[in-house]
Amino acid sequence: MTRIFNNPSDFAEEALAGFCDVYANLVRQVPGGAVRRHRPVQPKVAVLAGGGSGHYPAFAGLIGTGLADGAVVGNIFTSPSAQQAYSVAKAADSGAGVVFTYGNYAGDVMNFGLASERLAAEGIQVENVLVTDDVASAPPSESGKRRGIAGDFTVFKIMGAAAEAGADLADVVRLGRKANDLTRTIGSAFHGCTFPGADAPLFTLKDRQMGLGLGIHGEPGLFDTELPSAKELGQEFVARLLAETPHGAGDRIAVILNGLGSTKHEELFVLWLSVAPLLRAAGYTLVMPEVGELVTSLDMAGVSLTVTWLDDELEPLWTAPAETPAYRRGNAGIPGGEADETAPAEATAAPEAFAAGDASREYAQHCVAALAAAREALHDAEKSLGDLDAIAGDGDHGRGMVRGIDAACAAAAGALSRGAGAGTVLATAGDAWADNAGGTSGVLWGAGLRAFGECLGNDQSPDAAELAAAVAAFAARIAGLGKADVGDKTMVDALVPFVETFSRLAGEGTGADAGWSEAAREATAAAEATAALRPLKGRARPLAEKSVGTPDPGATSLAMVFTVFGPHLAAANIAGANIAGVRQPAGARS
Ligand code: ADP
Ligand code: MG
Repeated sequence: MTRIFNNPSDFAEEALAGFCDVYANLVRQVPGGAVRRHRPVQPKVAVLAGGGSGHYPAFAGLIGTGLADGAVVGNIFTSPSAQQAYSVAKAADSGAGVVFTYGNYAGDVMNFGLASERLAAEGIQVENVLVTDDVASAPPSESGKRRGIAGDFTVFKIMGAAAEAGADLADVVRLGRKANDLTRTIGSAFHGCTFPGADAPLFTLKDRQMGLGLGIHGEPGLFDTELPSAKELGQEFVARLLAETPHGAGDRIAVILNGLGSTKHEELFVLWLSVAPLLRAAGYTLVMPEVGELVTSLDMAGVSLTVTWLDDELEPLWTAPAETPAYRRGNAGIPGGEADETAPAEATAAPEAFAAGDASREYAQHCVAALAAAREALHDAEKSLGDLDAIAGDGDHGRGMVRGIDAACAAAAGALSRGAGAGTVLATAGDAWADNAGGTSGVLWGAGLRAFGECLGNDQSPDAAELAAAVAAFAARIAGLGKADVGDKTMVDALVPFVETFSRLAGEGTGADAGWSEAAREATAAAEATAALRPLKGRARPLAEKSVGTPDPGATSLAMVFTVFGPHLAAANIAGANIAGVRQPAGARS
């Protein structure tokens, strides 16, 4: 249970603000996360760790000498937005380039990727290092699909030490990837975690059961077994990791026995007593092992074992000193660089006035009404979407969609009041959605809405064909970013039938309203039909079997939103919005 909070949706922000206040001598809060308080004396590579909240000390607790230069901090279990990643990178960059490092989750990959594109366009050298240590999440032949769990820590530590020692960007990246290639983790869960304000944990296990192969976002274990003794659990962990010994690996290893949030240190020490002798008996020297909480999952009860096979290059980086709020090793001290006392900048977008045609301004009102209808539907469905996502994902889909649509509605209304046309209203709504929702669905919805708006433009109101083109642009952007195909069990499964049906009917001369309703019915049926599928993309993929029988949350919410969009975006009776398939002569349009 998370018992201490105010408004549950402010939990992550308030936790970060409190953390930055306590450790103000070491860290400085910036929009999107936190960076080191002291600027480096010499330009150095900025190692930026990131991901959602709920994993303390990952990721902000690891900011400091010998470790991270900054952390990008998303909402609970939700990828930070591209804007957050960009903003933290700008604050941390000292001229030697930045590297984002994070666990391999679709939302993080997309958001950090988008931020990287933007930084590169500004001439900042930027790289990404993904952590893929969880042996339970994909077979060895697909190790690139594995998710990142407690192995995040060893990879960050090695990269942080390399950057501190003056390695250049290419070398920090090379060492990070090498550390990741040589790192394996297996974990088990005893009890699910509970979101602040939620009345039940994300999953429960039967009495005396354990889930083997846990995730760190409240994803349940991959399969449930009888709760073993500590000795048996140690044997299971060690056997599974040593079965994956990297080819040509040496006999010196870094080891982490990690508690997930509400497993006691004493329990970890008992388990250590079974793990360590087995590793030593297998011929390994254990180099500065760590037993404690390094990557947690709110209040989850669970434990994971991580092994990193060291070589001459990695070992000194693993053992190098570090000084961060949550993790100290040796005597690293605080470097002598100047302390940055700048107050965290507030986002102060200067109010802009927009140029737009009258018909587009009028249609923009319908866009705002469409978003408001979606807002109502998503608020009503928040819990049920979260429950769908909790079956094989992390339970945050309802919350993410609500955060996204709330921000989108506010931004759209603001743009409308400043005279924006439909294109700008939707593009602005998309940016706000992406920035506030985070997560996989957030980045996709945000980028999709922007593409929708850009395609509509700000001159006129669309006819059925133009509306079909805008919906197709929405879908193309989502497909381009997420790279999911139909059948992968994602929102694309509902979106593609919508686009195909609407475009076909628009081409046949059906009015936009009738076409939209038919397309929305197809999308709803397709979303329901995803229940039969196994997820091949996204956070639910490792738990594919558990997901069978339940529709995809993102496809469900997409069908829901497109259904309620219809009466606003495509209604035949929208005054001045010639969208019923009958075009006015060009001269009649403003
Ligand atoms: P997260 O998975 O980051 O927690 P959400 O829970 O908000 O994000 O959204 C999950 C939904 O995102 C899934 O149900 C699926 O529809 C969609 N999704 C995941 N990966 C992809 C992808 N690569 N392309 C399109 N949609 C995706
Ligand atoms: Mg989710």
